Formats: sequence, C-alpha cells, structure tokens
Amino acid sequence: MTLVGVLAVQGAFVEHEASLSRLGAECYEIRKAADLGRSPDALVIPGGESTVMGKLTRDLGMLDRLRGLIEDGTPVLGTCAGMILLARGVEGGITHLGTMPITVRRNAYGRQLGSFSAVSDFAGLGEIPLEFIRAPAVVSVGEGVETLAEVDGVPVAVRYGNQLVTAFHPELTDDLTVHRFLLGLIQRRIAF
Ligand code: GLN
Repeated sequence: MTLVGVLAVQGAFVEHEASLSRLGAECYEIRKAADLGRSPDALVIPGGESTVMGKLTRDLGMLDRLRGLIEDGTPVLGTCAGMILLARGVEGGITHLGTMPITVRRNAYGRQLGSFSAVSDFAGLGEIPLEFIRAPAVVSVGEGVETLAEVDGVPVAVRYGNQLVTAFHPELTDDLTVHRFLLGLIQRRIAF
C-alpha cells in the first residue's frame, strides 16, 4: 500500500489525510524527526503559517532530513504555506527547505482578496475548484519548472520533477485531482 507522510506540526494536515485516504493511500503524521525514517512513498507539507511551520520543523531537527528525502526524489505536495516552505526564494522572508526553484511572495493577494475561490484547468486534466486563503503568489520560476494551473496569468500550481506545489488548498474541496497527481508522481519517480 502507498504510504504518505503528512507533516503535522501545524496547519491543515487532517484534510490532506482525508483526501488521500479516499484515494486508497495510507497516511501517517510526521511530528518528529524519527517519523521521517519510515521511508514514505510521498510527502505532504500542508497549509498553515509558514513561519511557525518553518520554525517547528527546524527546532524539531526535521528540516535537513526532510530536504534529504525530497532531494532523493520522494514526491512531495506543498500547499500554500507548504509551497513557501519548499520555495528557494521567499520575498521578504526566509528560505526554509529551498528545494523548489521558484520565488514566492507571501500574502500576495492583499486584505480584500485574502480568501477567494476560482476555477482553472489543472495539468490538462480538466477544470478544478481552487480555494485561496491568504495565499502566496509565485513571482518567478526557474528552469525546468512546469506550470500546471494559472489564475489571471499567475501560476498557482507548478511542478519541478518530484515536487508539486499549489498556492491554493486542494484538500478543502471534494476534488481529488491534485492528490491523484501526487500519487501519480510515485509511479513516475524513476523518470526524474
Ligand atoms: N499566509 C500564510 C503564510 O504566509 C499561508 C496561508 C495558508 O497556508 N493558508 O504562511
């Protein structure tokens, strides 16, 4: 059975577990460094507050091991704050894992548009609902980064090899397209 480790130090991790369970994956919560030793087939870094999640993963001694798993090719889905944790560049903030060659801007949509809904095609798989909550924006992407979804010309889902990040929250809707895509990356892992 597919085993997915969901970072569970803070934020919306339970909702990801529910989506992945519906797809038949087994999930477990990563709360301490030893949990990373279970060799998960894939990882999820959820939404929440990136400064808090970054500090906790660092303080718990997980940041380097997490980075190692990702650099070794373990597929990872980072949503919202998770995207910030993975980004190599964070405007006005600090880099945490820094494995994804993108630069992001935190809370990019301002107060008025702090939370909003949209729809977009995702990876040519059809339109999916997008829920944004104080979302970051992708302000630049490095070579080899593929845009999977956009809103108003701004990328809101991008992939780089085994790393998939979304500015929105797929775990807050019934749609399973993004989580199914993550599980698909496990099969494609050998190709990265
Ligand atoms: N605004 C949060 C941050 O900067 C992210 C919001 C979210 O994950 N929903 O960390």
